Amino acid sequence: MDFSISSETRDLLATVREFVQRELIPLEDAARGRSFSDLLPLLAEKRRMVRSMGLWTPQIPKAFGGVGLGFLEHAMVSEELARCPYGHFAFNCQAPDAGNMEVLIEFGTPSQQERWLKPLLQGEIRSCFSMTEVDRPGSNPVWMDTTAVRVGDEYVINGRKWFTTAADGAAFAIVMAVTNPDAPPHERASMIIVPTDTPGFERVRNISCMGHAGDGWDSHAEIRYTDCHVPAENLLGKEGAGFAIAQARLGPGRIHHCMRWIGISERSFDLMCQRAATREIAPGIPLGTKQTIQNWIADSRATINAARLMVLHAGWKIDQVGARDARIEISAIKFYVAEVMMQVIDRALQTHGALGISDDTVLSWFYRNERAARIYDGPDEVHRTVLARQELKRYGISI
Ligand SMILES: Cc1cc2nc3c(=O)[nH]c(=O)nc-3n(C[C@H](O)[C@H](O)[C@H](O)COP(=O)(O)OP(=O)(O)OC[C@H]3O[C@@H](n4cnc5c(N)ncnc54)[C@H](O)[C@@H]3O)c2cc1C
Repeated sequence: MDFSISSETRDLLATVREFVQRELIPLEDAARGRSFSDLLPLLAEKRRMVRSMGLWTPQIPKAFGGVGLGFLEHAMVSEELARCPYGHFAFNCQAPDAGNMEVLIEFGTPSQQERWLKPLLQGEIRSCFSMTEVDRPGSNPVWMDTTAVRVGDEYVINGRKWFTTAADGAAFAIVMAVTNPDAPPHERASMIIVPTDTPGFERVRNISCMGHAGDGWDSHAEIRYTDCHVPAENLLGKEGAGFAIAQARLGPGRIHHCMRWIGISERSFDLMCQRAATREIAPGIPLGTKQTIQNWIADSRATINAARLMVLHAGWKIDQVGARDARIEISAIKFYVAEVMMQVIDRALQTHGALGISDDTVLSWFYRNERAARIYDGPDEVHRTVLARQELKRYGISI
């Protein structure tokens, strides 16, 4: 594996880092106590700046108007953007829109691309992805209650979803629903585009998470689909291909999530070191002179470096042999990097004492919002099982 990066990529990363530091991190102060909608005019101005720098939608192929970065280049950009909670949004590569863009590019028909992908790429609309159900375990994605029944030229959708991130204000949802109940489990569900103004699409509430219901892009909604009629042409890919498309969306997506978590770890690490160097616990004695703090700094540096190399290696392996044969590496980074990030955030927060608990630094935001990393896209326990199963196969046990 080649770990060198081109001088072009190095320059790009420096430009992105400088922009995040100069333009986005100061927004964290402006955001304190304000809703996402309140912040939008400021973010819109930053988005205009990103466009004029030619860095808009870095992950999207040039043919679709993006920067056309390779998979690993974008992963590295993602680390830089993650230093601020608004980084990805400013560059129009935020979840869940980025995943939906990829799905529409790969599986959308020309008319779906014209109607939904184009304005998404322009940042004129937002979208959401509606798969997890209130009454069924998200960790078992082939067991689902939501149905889409074909009636003439339409699908009629009924079901109850939740944790549909960014549904508030989204123009459309990509919903996962059972269309072929008698097919083998992995071929029962399909992905269907549902405009959010369709009668029968109801955003019941933004779910309060860790004391914050949020709004707009910064929210997770419960959605009820009641006799929701959409044209059959809104189907993405083939009937029954929902699971396969979800896998295509999640495999590379996990690399990007992990690099985002490394960016968050690096920002938390910076804050920890700055505090250790400047907070005096007695006249002339900074906190960093204490061995416990030194251990936290050393352990955090070692694990962040290890995590980054693991993610880059997993990305390289996906490039070489495809996501299916990189299952061990993908599962390993999913739980390992999420745990490293939470540990680093926790140590940084502890180093700040009461200030760490307050909302005066970004650490409390990371602590509240990023804990979910150990749950979404497959909880830690599921990824550990996947990994162990693959390893045990080599010892003759099939589980
Ligand atoms: C902040 C956030 C944003 C999200 N955004 C979206 C979104 O945009 N769209 C969407 O569709 N979904 C979204 N989700 C939902 C997410 O994908 C699910 O929460 C996840 O798949 C787990 O499903 P569940 O919550 O139903 O937990 P369950 O499946 O009920 O599992 C609960 C717990 O049981 C344990 N467990 C489960 N399976 C096993 C096993 N095989 N072995 C051992 N232990 C196990 C794990 O500890 C797990 O955390 C989001 C979730 C969060 C928290």
